Amino acid sequence: MSETSMQPYIALAGNPNSGKTTAFNVYTGARQRVGNYPGVTVERKEGTAHHEGSTVHIVDLPGTYSLTAYSEEELVVRRELAERPPQAVINMLDASALERSLYLTVQLLEMGQPLVLALNMIDEARAAGIRIDRHELGQRLGVPVVETVARNGTGLAEALSAALAVEKNREKEGLTISYGSDIDPVLADMQVQIEKAGVATHKYPARWLALKILEGDADVLAEVRKVDSTLAERLAVSCHTVAGHIQKTLKTSPEAVISDYRHGFVRGLLKDGVMTQEDGRDRLAFSDKIDKVLVNAFSGPLIMFAVLYMVFYLTFEVGAYPQGWVEDFFGWLGGIATDAIPPGLLQSLIVSGIIDGLGGILSFVPLILIMFLFIAFLEDTGYMARIAYMVDRIFRSFGLHGSSVMAYITAGGIAGGCAIPGAMATRTLRSPKEKLATLLTLPYFPCGAKLPVFLLLAGVFFPDNEATVMMLMLLAGWSFALLVAWLLRSTIIRGKSTPFVMELPPYRLPTLVSLLVHCWERGWMYIKKAGTVLLAASILIWASMTFPQLDTEKAAPLEAAITDAESALEALAADAPDTLRTEVQANVDTARAILADASLRHSIAGRIGLALEPFTRPIGFDWRTDVALVSGIAAKEAIVSTLGTAYSLGEVDPEESEPLAARLASEPGWSPATALSLMLFVLLYSPCFVALVVIRNEAGGWRWLVFSIVFNTALAYAVSLLAYSVGKSIWS
Ligand code: GDP
Ligand code: MG
Repeated sequence: MSETSMQPYIALAGNPNSGKTTAFNVYTGARQRVGNYPGVTVERKEGTAHHEGSTVHIVDLPGTYSLTAYSEEELVVRRELAERPPQAVINMLDASALERSLYLTVQLLEMGQPLVLALNMIDEARAAGIRIDRHELGQRLGVPVVETVARNGTGLAEALSAALAVEKNREKEGLTISYGSDIDPVLADMQVQIEKAGVATHKYPARWLALKILEGDADVLAEVRKVDSTLAERLAVSCHTVAGHIQKTLKTSPEAVISDYRHGFVRGLLKDGVMTQEDGRDRLAFSDKIDKVLVNAFSGPLIMFAVLYMVFYLTFEVGAYPQGWVEDFFGWLGGIATDAIPPGLLQSLIVSGIIDGLGGILSFVPLILIMFLFIAFLEDTGYMARIAYMVDRIFRSFGLHGSSVMAYITAGGIAGGCAIPGAMATRTLRSPKEKLATLLTLPYFPCGAKLPVFLLLAGVFFPDNEATVMMLMLLAGWSFALLVAWLLRSTIIRGKSTPFVMELPPYRLPTLVSLLVHCWERGWMYIKKAGTVLLAASILIWASMTFPQLDTEKAAPLEAAITDAESALEALAADAPDTLRTEVQANVDTARAILADASLRHSIAGRIGLALEPFTRPIGFDWRTDVALVSGIAAKEAIVSTLGTAYSLGEVDPEESEPLAARLASEPGWSPATALSLMLFVLLYSPCFVALVVIRNEAGGWRWLVFSIVFNTALAYAVSLLAYSVGKSIWS
């Protein structure tokens, strides 16, 4: 933790999209830092504000609808509030969706947090004809209420002053509301038990702890168990008894009863003129009208596919230009380095290892930036919630969540995506289990780097059915992703799916600044995290294909053969016939190929390939293919080019794979069965290095990285074995 973490600070809390980050940016300007909360991938933002001559430390908490441990965000928020109590919390409310916003407010008050309510987006509320009596609301809750428009800064200074003036009173009991005759007595009893045992009361009010346990919050119960296991047992028993009773009498759970009463409390708060709504000018009514078309059973899915296709198309089509510029720049840099450094190991390291590697990494940055710009736009406008809502029912039957769809599509669900931004797109998933299942299955899609392999093999071995083969690979990707997700969710990451409680937020036009900030934050994270790792990987591939070098005695005759062939070529008379020239050129190529083949067999990569060959024989691969597949783990882009090198043809540009195609077509070990087997293997086996690193970061553990490598490769092997056996019987 940073040394600033113990300073007094003001926290910004609220629902997603309530305007916290907008306010945070106004308060802190450039004086902010983005990090992660320890152990989870939830972003942590802190910064300092200059306010009335003093410096105030401010933290932008993750957006949540509740404080029960349904998601990492919710856990993070309440731990932060308990373990590092802020001087005060500014609770940002969406004034145009006050009822939903106050549901969280009630929980913050129950937790005993010193609050200031910011009625944010008051501009939109007014435009929608909503009137809020803020003085009365403040009286009823016993907290200051300020009207704000974070977008232009109105009222933010006043909110901060109010927060700094809030009397810090941690001893105070939190807000007490009634949960009805079934829950109240049990709650009171549990509260007394907790108070007597003196457990965690310095952090949380006893009643709040009891309430969370009744809501079925395993995290809170675990915390109590750590301090006093017999108490935890007794509380669990009380909880179980009341749950049984409520199930029998009301056919529901304590959790649902508590939520009903809490909503009831909020509705009551707003009665008697605290909030009034003029008819006919309802922004929600306007959103409802749009939804009649956009979430309609017929036009909804069509528009959704069109929008998703557009996002995909624009990202990869438009993104191809800046991606090309980045590649060109590094190509140019490589050219300069080649000229500046004498041929040899150092040149090879700098050009092939470092510059090419960096170019490969940084060429993804434009794609990531554009993709996230669209995702931020879809999220901020409110359309993402509609997409998730529409596909939720289908995805749910596979143990996923509606929001998984965007990650899948980004990863290659329409073919040609990339698992890296895909994995980062899982951040929109709130439940860790659904997020994990999405993360582990999104590498099965045909990402942009796998496409050249499919194109090459389909072109050589299925020349009449190229498009069909590509389509089948895409379908195979979807089938495996959904099936494996279902398998995982019914075995190792089993668990209830989170209820789809997300309300459909009203449509809203986002500001350009917030879009740009969102997208830059994510792009920068990629550069920082993936950059270093992929550079190392690129150097590693280079080194493993270069070392150990051939002994001079072995290399000398092969090199001499090349020199001889080259001199023969140079010695040709200018008017020599073309047939002769081609023949002599072929001799040069063959001599180079022999040296390359010998060097590769001698190198670490070659030895690995040779060692793997016995295992991959049953699925049709020789050692050269194995070398290509191993380097494909470093980056899938490397598969075709390594195949080219391994088949002794020098570097092969995926766009111009003619010589490699011809070579494979005539190679005795290759058949359509081999091609099918290899395509499926490439589709399914271990994700590439950078994707693995991002998966590790997002999933929060090395074991998921190991799982991805081992499980996916095993699955790929099994599928390829089947495909190869069936294929051999068809095409032999
Ligand atoms: P967060 O999820 O709570 O961090 O919300 P953001 O700060 O990202 O804001 C969500 C969207 O609401 C952005 O498009 C903001 O521009 C917009 N927004 C924020 N505050 C206001 C406001 O007071 N009025 C209006 N009309 N829009 C706002
Ligand atoms: Mg935010």
